[in-house]
Amino acid sequence: MSVRVRFAPSPTGYLHVGGARTALFNWLYARKMGGVHILRIEDTDRERSTEAHTQVILDGLRWLGIEWDEGPYFQGAFGARHRADAERLLAEGKAYRCFCTTADLDAQRKAMAGMKTAFRYDGRCGRLGAAEVEAKVAAGTPSAIRFRMPQGEIAWDDAVHGRISFQGHDLDDLVILRSDHTPIYNLAVVSDDIEMRITHVIRGDDHVSNTPKQIALYRALGHEPPVFAHVPMILGDDGKKLSKRHGATAVGDYQDKGILPAAMRNFLALLGWSPGGDREILPEAEMIAAFSLEGIQKKPAVFDTAKLEWMNGQYLSQLSADALLAPTERELARMGVTAPGRDLRPLIDSVKARSRTILNIAEQVAVRLDPSRVVRDAKGEQLAAKLGTAFSANLAVVADALDRIPAAEWHSDRILADMKALAEARGAKLGDLLQPVRVVLTGSTVSEPVNDLLVVVGREESLARLNAGVRT
Ligand code: GLU
Repeated sequence: MSVRVRFAPSPTGYLHVGGARTALFNWLYARKMGGVHILRIEDTDRERSTEAHTQVILDGLRWLGIEWDEGPYFQGAFGARHRADAERLLAEGKAYRCFCTTADLDAQRKAMAGMKTAFRYDGRCGRLGAAEVEAKVAAGTPSAIRFRMPQGEIAWDDAVHGRISFQGHDLDDLVILRSDHTPIYNLAVVSDDIEMRITHVIRGDDHVSNTPKQIALYRALGHEPPVFAHVPMILGDDGKKLSKRHGATAVGDYQDKGILPAAMRNFLALLGWSPGGDREILPEAEMIAAFSLEGIQKKPAVFDTAKLEWMNGQYLSQLSADALLAPTERELARMGVTAPGRDLRPLIDSVKARSRTILNIAEQVAVRLDPSRVVRDAKGEQLAAKLGTAFSANLAVVADALDRIPAAEWHSDRILADMKALAEARGAKLGDLLQPVRVVLTGSTVSEPVNDLLVVVGREESLARLNAGVRT
């Protein structure tokens, strides 16, 4: 049996990181098993579904490198089959016509309000005699079609959670076709999954309560249900369900923040799945090889933005300055920084190891290009306070020594050798001499080695900034 899985988003909003993670697991499983990954857009909610949302979902998946082998199919195009399935269940007595109006149902709901159970349809239309039903139909009374929920246990072996069991009598006789002949979600999904020969349904935990209803529908339609794998929820760092309160939840927001698609994908894969051991950086081929439904965890996953940024930093540091040039230039342009004719690649190389995002790279490059962007951070201020007058005295000594290096010899080794000699001659610590330089050139006490920093900032610009630093 070859594996066929599907990602079935509803285009009623942007691509949420939870949806992207579901898509990723489906894709990984298909690739692992040599199966087929299908994209099905569930656009049956006419009011909330839009083409713009569909486009955002497709763009997000493409950006993440999650491919599909079939589709996108649009569920709205399969209305005729959904109706035919509902009619078939009706003809076979597995469903019945329900003539209850919204007002009837509200009255039932009110009557049940005192009891401590959730509302359940009382099944009254299921008890109507054939003649009565025919008379109502003949009189043109609108009717929905309700599925007759079988009694007894409905259970499945979830690939993530193990055995999950419900009792049919706890479940509603659910509407499958509305009186306007539009299908209800549970019917449309089952009808499509049967038609598309889906073997494994991998989706969010929030669907667990739909699954017994869908299993009952599968069986009523004469098919064995697929394997179900319900993946855990994603929580924010406070243990609550991930929402906008926690920050960005749309995949597109991370794209805008300069997160690399490979890093985002790696991060999403580890939300609720583990390859075993403590491996974290997983290139595509390794991720596919290691993926299994058994490796999906039961407990909710926590979305840790700091970890995402760390991971992005790992991926960034592996990219060449050539590859980072265009995105960095885009970010710089957005910041209003231009450097016509300047090769930015040495600057990118110099800062990428200490950067977590493209934005970080651009910010550091900007500081090295433009002295007006140097803002002293708390640690820089602390250092200046600690050194007191030695801060500018050290700067003056260093500036003087650097001034003696001719432009043609302004390279990292020469600068380091001269600075070591200077420290030795003065009986000073190299760090004490150089930290003020770092603060004046970048505003911060953390950067690439100071000799490298001086090279990328350039001789004239460095000396100008140091001399200005001495005077303040
Ligand atoms: N369209 C459903 C959703 O967006 C998914 C249905 C499913 O995966 O079975 O939640």
